[in-house]
Amino acid sequence: MRKLGVLVAVLLGALAGARGDEKAAAKGPGEDGTLPGLARVAGEGMMNSHAYDYLTELSDEVGARVTGTPGAQKGIEWAAAKMKAIGLENVHTEKWTMWRGWTRGSAEAELLAPARRKLAVDAMGWTGSTAAGGAEGEVARVNMFALDEEMKNTAQWAGKVLLVVQQGPRPKDGDNLFARFGDFLKAAQKAGALAVIGGQGGSKAAGMHLTHTGILGFEADFEVPVVSMTAEDQGQLERYLESGKTVRVRINVQNTFTKGPVESANVVGEIRGREHAEQVFVVGAHLDSWDLSEGATDNGTGSASVLGAAEALVRAGQRPRRTIRFVLFTGEEQGLLGSFAYVKQHQAEMGNHLGDLVVDTGQGPVDRFELGREDLGEAFAPFAKAISMFGSFAVNGEAMFGTDTGPFTLAGLPGIHMHQNSPEYKYTHHSAADALEAVKPEVLAQNATLMALTAYWIADRPERFAEPWPAERTAKMLVRQHHDAELKAFKIWPFGNLGAEEKKEAPQQ
Ligand SMILES: [Zn+2]
Repeated sequence: MRKLGVLVAVLLGALAGARGDEKAAAKGPGEDGTLPGLARVAGEGMMNSHAYDYLTELSDEVGARVTGTPGAQKGIEWAAAKMKAIGLENVHTEKWTMWRGWTRGSAEAELLAPARRKLAVDAMGWTGSTAAGGAEGEVARVNMFALDEEMKNTAQWAGKVLLVVQQGPRPKDGDNLFARFGDFLKAAQKAGALAVIGGQGGSKAAGMHLTHTGILGFEADFEVPVVSMTAEDQGQLERYLESGKTVRVRINVQNTFTKGPVESANVVGEIRGREHAEQVFVVGAHLDSWDLSEGATDNGTGSASVLGAAEALVRAGQRPRRTIRFVLFTGEEQGLLGSFAYVKQHQAEMGNHLGDLVVDTGQGPVDRFELGREDLGEAFAPFAKAISMFGSFAVNGEAMFGTDTGPFTLAGLPGIHMHQNSPEYKYTHHSAADALEAVKPEVLAQNATLMALTAYWIADRPERFAEPWPAERTAKMLVRQHHDAELKAFKIWPFGNLGAEEKKEAPQQ
């Protein structure tokens, strides 16, 4: 057995050699020379971490950071100053423009019949207002799982408050619900509905009397006021309607849109590579947040991890072979706008990018590396083994479009998502509980250290970690992983945001 194993290994090795570095490089830190540097980085990250201090400052001194608002601008200035203080090189901001800005005003609702009491609501982002002083009306149900049927009778929505419910089986093309919901909101507006309650997120609207705000389409806004209502309040309204009672509410929502586009910026700093400075590995997270609290878990933890990782790498004093570029993106919550802008602005040098590494799933410890490419698991496995004293990490080739890894994956590069085990994220996600209280300093320090270690290993190992894939190969992988429907719903398939040349290579589906 053993002999056969060796023979097979030699043959595989020879084959791998013939196919290039990508496959021949399944060496871990013990064999590829990165271990001494990694040990220093781990020491700085775990023994000398300021990640939680950064998160405290970001939460309390900057606060909510909705893209395009003064709060977000304050965050951008804070992050640039922090990167300079940490000692990163070439610190600067890279501006991009967003289609329209939005500011939350107030949202109030009251149940008038069959009982009388206050209802807890908050506006969804980039949605409109009721008449000044509010509106009163009867509540009518709309089944999110049968929107096509519902939209045949829009005339009955005039003067009503629409309560979005989920009845019957979820449609098979569930990924398109998000896009269809936008069509429904436009129809509701046109029909003269007073407001819309619920419908977003579904399972995300966890109990404990929390509202969860968010965007209702990639780069999309809606004139009709749409509110998130606490699961408990919405549940009661649904039960009243189910039992045939007439439900009346008064609702007053006031928000403001900007007249035209607004500017935002990504914040960038680097550790320049000692051998191949032109080759860049991006370490990122989104700096922007929602505004019902401080954005500590979405994505203050990610932003503080990026800064903590940068600090550990700078202090370890180990200049990697290639450049590590730290990027705090904005506009993530409105459709990955900052990371799409980054990929567009750096299109000429994307061939020299090795991918990006992003953390954005709340407050828990990292438990999985989603590499965003299916060919790198073998190369990554020895590294995952080398960090096993931090925990056991699953590794897969899944692409992740829920955060700033997506645009890198579309560019043919590994958008590596460090998934976190965050069971409480369903409460803090986009809610008033998204606060520092939810974050444990030791978990944050470990995540930041893992980010630093991963970045250092990828940037310093002798062989390049990944070459960019041609668009056709990426497209095939995304179809295989069933991401095409989701991307179509977001109107970024086939690769619409990344230029025409990819477009014609994408497969018909
Ligand atoms: Zn996020």
